[in-house]
Amino acid sequence: MSHLRAVPNGPTGPSTAPPRSGSASSVRVEAPGKVNLFLSAGAPGPDGYHPLTTVFQAVRLIETVTARRQSAQNHGTVTLTLEEPDAAVPIDASNLAVRAADLLAEVTGVNEGVDLLLRKRVPVAGGMAGGSADAAATLVACNALWGTNLPLPELSALASRLGADVPFPLTGATAVGHGRGDLVTPIMTRGSYHWVFALAEQGLSTPAVFRRFDVLPGAGEPAVRDIPEALTAALRAGDVRALADSLHNDLQAAAIDLRPELARVISVAEEAGALRAIVSGSGPTIAALVEDAGGAQRVSRALKASGLVAGVLRADAPVAGARVVG
Ligand code: ATP
Repeated sequence: MSHLRAVPNGPTGPSTAPPRSGSASSVRVEAPGKVNLFLSAGAPGPDGYHPLTTVFQAVRLIETVTARRQSAQNHGTVTLTLEEPDAAVPIDASNLAVRAADLLAEVTGVNEGVDLLLRKRVPVAGGMAGGSADAAATLVACNALWGTNLPLPELSALASRLGADVPFPLTGATAVGHGRGDLVTPIMTRGSYHWVFALAEQGLSTPAVFRRFDVLPGAGEPAVRDIPEALTAALRAGDVRALADSLHNDLQAAAIDLRPELARVISVAEEAGALRAIVSGSGPTIAALVEDAGGAQRVSRALKASGLVAGVLRADAPVAGARVVG
C-alpha cells in the first residue's frame, strides 16, 4: 500500500457550497466485473461512438473501494492508494476512481475531499470493465461518505459521463445495454453460471479493438442486431447449454485479428469441455462457460497447462451491483 498521489479537487467544487457530510468515517463498497453474453456493434455515428446492443452479466470478480474521511492535512483533495502497488493502473487524476470522486464532488458542490483505497481483482485492460467497476464503486462510496445521497438514476447518469461501461456495475446482475452500452435495463434470469477466464499477459485497448473492427470486412453494419430470443429464453430458464449456444461477440474477430493466439486459447478451453469460449468484451480475456465446478476445474487445468495464458480465474455469475459492505 505504498502508492499515494494527492490530486487537488481544484476549481471543480463551487466554493460557496455548504459543508455537507455523512456520519461514517469510512465506507467500503464492492462492485463486480462483467462479461458480455452478447455484443452487437454498428458502424460509428458522427460522434465517433459505435452503437451497441449488448447483454452484460456481472461476475464474482470483485473490486473494492474504501472511501475514507480525510485528515486535516489532505483536506479537499482526492487521493488514491492501490492495495497492490504494482497493479498496472494509473494512480493520478486519470484513474477512473479519482475521476468518479471528482465528478460527484463537482456536481454536488462537496469540497471535503476523500482518501480512496482500491483493491483490484478484475484483470486490467482485459475487456471485463474493471476500471468501470472502480468508478461505480467510488460513486456509491463517496455518495454515502459525503451524505450527498443521490438516487440511483442520478448516479447512473453521472456514471455514463465517466464511460459507457460504468452504469452497468451500479446495477449488476444481468442486464441489456443499449446506446453506447450505457442505457442499462435489468433482465430476468434464473440460476447461477460458472465461468473460467483465461488472462493474457498484455491488455488490449478498447479503442484499438474498435478501430480494427471498423476495417474488417463485413463488420460495422449500420444497424445493430437485436438480442436473440433464444438467449433471453435460455437465461429465463437457467439453461446453461442453450445459453452457450447463444453467446456472441461482434468484437471477437477484431480481437483475434490483433491477437491470433486467442483462437488457440478458445480451442483449448472448448476441447477441455467448456460449453463455449468467447472473447470477453474487447478482449483479450477469454471467457469460457462451463457446466459446473468440475468442468471449471478441467478447463482451468487445461488452460494452465497450455502455456498460452498468463493466468486463469474462476467466477460464478450473476452477482449484485455496487453495494456498501462496511
Ligand atoms: P472495458 O471492458 O470497459 O473496455 P477494460 O476492462 O478492457 O475496459 P480496464 O481494466 O477498465 O479495461 O482499463 C482500461 C484502461 O483504463 C487501463 O489500461 C488503464 O490505463 C485505465 N484505467 C483508468 N483507471 C483505471 C482503474 N481504476 N482500473 C483499471 N484501469 C484503469
